[in-house]
Amino acid sequence: MAQIIDGKQVSASVKQEVKDEAAKLRDEKGLKVGLAVVIVGNNPASRVYVNNKKKACEAVGFQSFEYALDESTTQEQLLDLVNVLNRDDRVNGILVQLPLPKHIDEKTVIDAISPEKDVDAFHPVNVGRIMIGDYAFLPCTPAGVMRLIASTGTEISGKQCVVIGRSNIVGKPMAMLLLHESGTVTVCHSKTKNLKEICLGADILVVAVGRANFVTGDMVKEGAVVIDVGMNRLDDGKLCGDVEFESAEKKASYITPVPGGVGPMTIAMLMKNTLTAAKQQNGLT
Ligand code: NAP
Repeated sequence: MAQIIDGKQVSASVKQEVKDEAAKLRDEKGLKVGLAVVIVGNNPASRVYVNNKKKACEAVGFQSFEYALDESTTQEQLLDLVNVLNRDDRVNGILVQLPLPKHIDEKTVIDAISPEKDVDAFHPVNVGRIMIGDYAFLPCTPAGVMRLIASTGTEISGKQCVVIGRSNIVGKPMAMLLLHESGTVTVCHSKTKNLKEICLGADILVVAVGRANFVTGDMVKEGAVVIDVGMNRLDDGKLCGDVEFESAEKKASYITPVPGGVGPMTIAMLMKNTLTAAKQQNGLT
């Protein structure tokens, strides 16, 4: 039976590290770290995420600046705000909550964020830096997964790592981070053949598909580390991962639950990126 990886506990320790360092910056350098969060429209899930980010900022001693814009905000108005935030010295990190309303092009908005303040690490400059292994910020969810794997004491070097999903925000950067740690990485997607066979070869299996209970225990190698990135809302309102937990935990050595696994890590890593941004902008790294 697998040991459960406690994402709440690991994320709490990341937040504590950030809080301690933020307090030191404040006391020794008079620097208050600031994160601006921009939300456009009334997507209820986005609202919850933004509130959680605001609470996390308070918990670690950051200033948070929230900009809740109307659904009818034009792309030009949003770009104007991003430009103002790019120049605002109180703001070390800028996060524009996705998805944006359909009339706004997400890529144009992401490209407008100063790479130095792009704490989501979605800007092409930061994506490129991740590719060559010379990065300041790591995308929050894959970085959180790396921290969870590290918490198990599992060595990645030389291991067979399988990532299911190739999105720009999870799958692709996840594969890169595992590769930088010298894992032998296979990336699977909707056109992959023999998925079960490939999964059965995985010492480390990261699943980011967006389909409830997609990976079942018979796809998991005995002793594998299984990381479930999926967050699927079931009809009864319950949150469910991409991995069928009950069958997979019988095979895995370590496994993340949903909720309480990868989810809490994403915000903790966002706080860490914002702290890094503040230090860099003030010549402290
Ligand atoms: P996404 O952009 O929809 O990507 C899903 C990926 O899964 C795609 O690459 C897709 O392949 C692949 N896929 C779909 N069906 C498949 C199949 N039958 N076999 C193999 N691969 C298949 O999703 P995402 O943004 O990466 O998110 C993935 C999941 O993670 C979602 O549940 C999301 O809610 C969750 N998530 C959680 C956090 C967190 O903080 N915990 C953060 C971000 C995302 P193709 O490319 O071929 O279409």
